[in-house]
Amino acid sequence: MKSVDYIIVGQGLAGTLLAHDLIEQGHTLVVIDKDMKASASKVAAGLFNPVSMKRCIPTWNASVFLPFAIERYQQLEKKLDTSFLNLTPVLKVFSNDEVSKQWKVQYSNTDINQYITTFNKEEKFSYLKDSSGTAQIDPAGNLEVNKFLSSSREYFESIDSYINEVFDYKELNPETATYKDIVGQRVIFCEGFRVLQNPFFDFLPIRPTKGEVMKIRIPSLEKLDYILSAGIYVLPLGSYEYIVGATYNHKDMDDVVSESGLSFLIEGLNKILEADYELIDTNAGVRPTVKDRKPLLGLHPLLPKLGVFNGLGTRGVLIGPGLSAQFCTNLTTNANNSLVADNERVSRFFC
Ligand SMILES: Cc1cc2nc3c(=O)[nH]c(=O)nc-3n(C[C@H](O)[C@H](O)[C@H](O)COP(=O)(O)OP(=O)(O)OC[C@H]3O[C@@H](n4cnc5c(N)ncnc54)[C@H](O)[C@@H]3O)c2cc1C
Repeated sequence: MKSVDYIIVGQGLAGTLLAHDLIEQGHTLVVIDKDMKASASKVAAGLFNPVSMKRCIPTWNASVFLPFAIERYQQLEKKLDTSFLNLTPVLKVFSNDEVSKQWKVQYSNTDINQYITTFNKEEKFSYLKDSSGTAQIDPAGNLEVNKFLSSSREYFESIDSYINEVFDYKELNPETATYKDIVGQRVIFCEGFRVLQNPFFDFLPIRPTKGEVMKIRIPSLEKLDYILSAGIYVLPLGSYEYIVGATYNHKDMDDVVSESGLSFLIEGLNKILEADYELIDTNAGVRPTVKDRKPLLGLHPLLPKLGVFNGLGTRGVLIGPGLSAQFCTNLTTNANNSLVADNERVSRFFC
């Protein structure tokens, strides 16, 4: 029998962040993950942006989560001796003059002005259809999620804390937190949308949202200095390549890229881009979204050795580090001190 403090099921963004936090607090653990189809983190462009683009208001707890996330990923870059965080401003391309006017009103009347650094006049960018102007949001950027996950996995393997297999729920004794020949103090489930197949947490209000992205090459643009946002986003990767995303679909839960999804992305791109491009690749995954758009973390109401960290939704990169740190503190000290104001929501399953 191997004995550890925590068994973590799933090494997407949630499981990875929590495992790092727990290890740094001196706990032993094992992460169990099998590269399963349609997992969200492997498809995500990893954007983080403190502004909700539809309504031009700050995203949920942005003032806490944004600085926390940037600092945490930078710490993890040092720890893992690699780089995966890019700070790049977002350029909102206004679809018409009315939207531009609404944003300027919000800028003058609310605290959103802390994130909007510039309004640009129309037709500033030769490669854009920006006849109603643009606004620049800073700080923002993206996490290279796959690089973060693979370097973390190497680290967990190097300290003998990683098992590459499908977690078999039938092998778990939920009262003692014993899984096969591993005895844990607790088991924390971080399986993304597949938590719906978890017999202990299948009651959670997860309503998955499939998303599709495409990779393109723009031969005339080596690397944009911005992430473009206009219903779709365009993320510069360098070497003339860009990720364009994303779609939102509640019907399917697979990794198949649909014709309608691709058409949506192409139409959105053609509305803003004034340059030729080629399609290189497509990809799809399923986001663990929740009906009320808030995350789910805490312990099982009846089985206190089982916990969950899920529901990161569409903004896992931004909110994940702060939530993981808070959950780690709650797990290890039984305290209920909250990093975010909306404590009720965050710890709603915490006993
Ligand atoms: C197309 C798309 C674009 C996105 N873009 C962004 C973006 O730009 N910015 C942003 O912040 N967020 C984005 N997201 C959302 C983001 O990906 C999620 O918030 C986040 O990745 C969720 O992480 P997770 O760890 O909860 O779930 P997942 O990433 O799904 O990870 C779950 C892990 O658990 C493993 N697993 C599940 N069941 C088992 C089992 N029984 N045994 C073993 N292993 C198991 C899976 O293999 C997987 O590795 C996007 C998502 C999609 C689909």
